[in-house]
Amino acid sequence: MRSVTVIGAGISGLAAAWALRDTARVTVLDGAPRVGGKIRTGRVAGVEADLGAESMVTLGPDAARLAEAVGLGDALCEPAEAPVTIWTRDGLRPMPPGHLMGIPSRPELLAPTGLLSEEGLRRLHLGEDLEPLPPTTDVTVGGYLEPLIGREAVDRLVAPVLGGIYGGDAYRLSLASALPFLSGITASGEPLMTALRRRETARAGTPRTAPVRGVRGGMERLARAVAKSSGATVLTGTSARALSRRAEGGGAWRVHADTDDGPLALDGDAVILAVRSDAAARLLAPHAPGAAAALAQVEHASSAVVTLAFPADGPAREAVAGRNGFLVPPVDGRLVKGATFLSAKWPWYAQDTPDVFVVRASLGRAGAASPLTSPDGTLAAAALTELTAALGPLGEPLARRVTRWERGLPQYHVGHGARMDLVRDELAALPGLDVCGATYQGVGVASCISSGLAAARRTVPGTEPFAGGEADDER
Ligand SMILES: Cc1cc2nc3c(=O)[nH]c(=O)nc-3n(C[C@H](O)[C@H](O)[C@H](O)COP(=O)(O)OP(=O)(O)OC[C@H]3O[C@@H](n4cnc5c(N)ncnc54)[C@H](O)[C@@H]3O)c2cc1C
Repeated sequence: MRSVTVIGAGISGLAAAWALRDTARVTVLDGAPRVGGKIRTGRVAGVEADLGAESMVTLGPDAARLAEAVGLGDALCEPAEAPVTIWTRDGLRPMPPGHLMGIPSRPELLAPTGLLSEEGLRRLHLGEDLEPLPPTTDVTVGGYLEPLIGREAVDRLVAPVLGGIYGGDAYRLSLASALPFLSGITASGEPLMTALRRRETARAGTPRTAPVRGVRGGMERLARAVAKSSGATVLTGTSARALSRRAEGGGAWRVHADTDDGPLALDGDAVILAVRSDAAARLLAPHAPGAAAALAQVEHASSAVVTLAFPADGPAREAVAGRNGFLVPPVDGRLVKGATFLSAKWPWYAQDTPDVFVVRASLGRAGAASPLTSPDGTLAAAALTELTAALGPLGEPLARRVTRWERGLPQYHVGHGARMDLVRDELAALPGLDVCGATYQGVGVASCISSGLAAARRTVPGTEPFAGGEADDER
């Protein structure tokens, strides 16, 4: 049986390790004291709250199948039904149904929401019949959409949604890499809104289910369950420092790691790097300098998540009523880029801890000053002030917790696809070395799971993560 070392116990590395459970002897190592990476659940006023990712897209099958396979099928839960809400133009305004990543399919439904000015609406209608040109080169999302829907619609509808996913800038993110489905939709040359409406009509007959799921008890349960059922040896507090090639015996690659007890060398036939791109670049530099250079160019956005726990019988619950959260357009210059009302969005919070109402705000986006230079107290106070400005008085929190995600979200800027092709091509010539994770094929948890499963299949041929069923294609 082949031996594989997976570096990084975030969900990507854990999914890879799990997929290899029958086909390889696997060791997973992570510099942090726990598994899960950006998936972390922690206590706030006695509530186990998600402090990093709090949901995963289940439009593709991998994420839900993995959860089921590790015994958490029954723990998957749907969010409460609520429209996407944007905090802008001095109000909390619902996004009308039928939009795709903020791109409206029915401009006429926007007027009553107040999301756009008269001028913004007029501009949006003007673009209604325009044919989207298939981009011949990689272009920014904003640069591509602005001629079709107008600057204001990009800024107030699309940018906040992109900010919620990437913490990114619509005028730097690549259309092809950040919104790959859009090129598919517009390839026909059909006017964009007509294509979106057709897509909506095609879906009308199918039962509406939420496109995301959470995990009752917190997303970290998923990471821990995947680690456990992978059967892999998991070494936390073990940071990979270097990789070297072994000419003979004991496997093809040696990972040099540091632990509290001193250095450790791990030999294996293959290594999967499931770490952030800058860490991958350092490890790959001696072996794949072109890939390392491409990975080193990937920028990241840092953010802080401020989790506030309020008494459930105070004003906070009333203040959020009917909403799961809100997103904030970057043009509005707020510190908060989005808020999630955990106790309203996920029914299990209120069921498990009915006395406490948990709300969280995310601060920080690409291009803006990093929130991480401010102390916790300042961040928590700023979040509370802006939440109060949006929602009205919330009362005094029982507890506040600040979680820092330094360089937490990779930015798929223009050129990202070409850079990642280069990484793939160079690594293809280095048998036993592979990569997976948020840098490569989507930053969301579900994409990371698919990326980990795909890396496992490439690393040990014959690996079939969901034996007896079909697996996702790489996406
Ligand atoms: C605040 C926040 C909220 C988010 N919310 C959502 C959400 O609701 N839904 C969603 O789908 N996505 C969300 N995301 C995105 C998603 O959580 C991440 O993209 C995904 O979890 C990344 O998984 P990963 O395994 O690729 O990387 P990571 O989770 O970053 O894991 C990489 C691991 O590698 C380890 N590591 C790094 N260097 C080394 C080294 N040299 N040696 C050993 N170990 C090393 C790290 O300690 C880390 O544990 C969110 C992200 C953030 C930051």
